[in-house]
Amino acid sequence: MHEALVATDVTKRYGETVALDGVDLSVADGEVFGLIGPNGAGKTTLVRALTGTTAVDGEVRVQDRHPTDVDADRVGLLPQSFSPPTRLTARELIDYYGGLYETARDTDEILSTVGLAETADSWYETLSGGQQRRVCVGIALVNDPDVLFLDEPTTGIDPAGRRSLWSVLETLADGGTTILLTSHSMAEVQRLSDRVGLLRDGQLVAVGTPDELIADHGGGSRLVIDTDASEAAADALADAGFAATAEPTAVVVDNVSPVDIGDAVDALSAADLPYESLTWSEPTLEDVYLQLTGESFEGAGSRSATATPAVDSTAETDTAATQEGRQ
Ligand code: ADP
Repeated sequence: MHEALVATDVTKRYGETVALDGVDLSVADGEVFGLIGPNGAGKTTLVRALTGTTAVDGEVRVQDRHPTDVDADRVGLLPQSFSPPTRLTARELIDYYGGLYETARDTDEILSTVGLAETADSWYETLSGGQQRRVCVGIALVNDPDVLFLDEPTTGIDPAGRRSLWSVLETLADGGTTILLTSHSMAEVQRLSDRVGLLRDGQLVAVGTPDELIADHGGGSRLVIDTDASEAAADALADAGFAATAEPTAVVVDNVSPVDIGDAVDALSAADLPYESLTWSEPTLEDVYLQLTGESFEGAGSRSATATPAVDSTAETDTAATQEGRQ
C-alpha cells in the first residue's frame, strides 16, 4: 500500500513551546485519517507541517515529496478559518479559485458534488453556515486534489448542514481521495475516519481504527439503573454475578451486554426492588477521548438506549431496553 502522507519524527518548537514532539504518522493512499486532541495539542501545526506552510524538524512527505515540492494541483486545503469574499456567488467563487490553477474541475460539477447546484447564484453572505462551509469545501476541490486537508470542516455548522457535508466527504473518500481531517466532533471522526490519531501535548498517543481505539481505551458497555434503593439493588445485582456499584440514586453495572439486561432486571424483580429507568450504553470514541485526555466534549455522548417503566420494573420494559440496546 502506497503512503500518501508520511511524517517521521516531526518536531516543531515555538520558543519554549513544543507544538509537535516527535510525531510519526503515515496515511495510505485513499485513506481518511482523523486527527483529534485537545486545543493546543498540535493538530493545526501538524496540518501546517504536512502542507508545507511551517518548517519543522524531522521529515515530512506528501506523495513522496517534500510538501513544498508537491504539485499544487494534487493537494487541497481547507483551513480552519477561511472566509472568501462574501459578495460573490458560490459559482463565482468556484470559478475564481479554479482560475488560479492550470486545470480546474468544472464549476457545475463541483457545485453539484457539494450539493449547491440550487443555490449556486446566491451571494456567499446570504447562505447558511452549512452552505458556506460547503462552498469552502468546493473551493478546496477546484484542482481535483488527490490529497485533501480539512481543518475542522464542520465547526459552527448546524446538524443538518453537518450531515450533508459528511456525505460530501464520504463521496470523495469513496472516490479515492486521501483525506486528513481534524475535528472536535467525535461523532464526525468516528463516522468518517478509517483510522484516527489522538494528539496530546504534541505527541501521537494512540492510532488505530475507531473500533480498535474503542476496544483498547473505551472501557466496556454499562447499564445505569436509576433507583432510590441503590444499595440494596447493587447487592442484589452483585449476588446475581454483576459488577454493580451503588451511587446515591443509581446503580452502575459495568460490562453488561444487551442480552444480559433481562437477567439484571430479573434480579431486581426477584428482590422486589423498583427502579425509575435503565440506560444501557456502549463506549464510543468520546469515551476514548475522555480516557486518554481526561477531557470531555460538550454535546457528545455515548450511544445509549433508555427504558422507563410505566409504574415500576416489569418484564415488558426489560424487553424494550434489550431490543433498543441491540440496535
Ligand atoms: P491545535 O490545533 O491542536 O489546537 P496548535 O497546533 O494550534 O494546536 O498549537 C500547538 C501549540 O503550539 C500550542 O501550544 C500553541 O499555542 C502553539 N503555537 C501554535 N502556533 C504558534 C505560533 N505561530 N507561535 C507560537 N506558538 C504557537
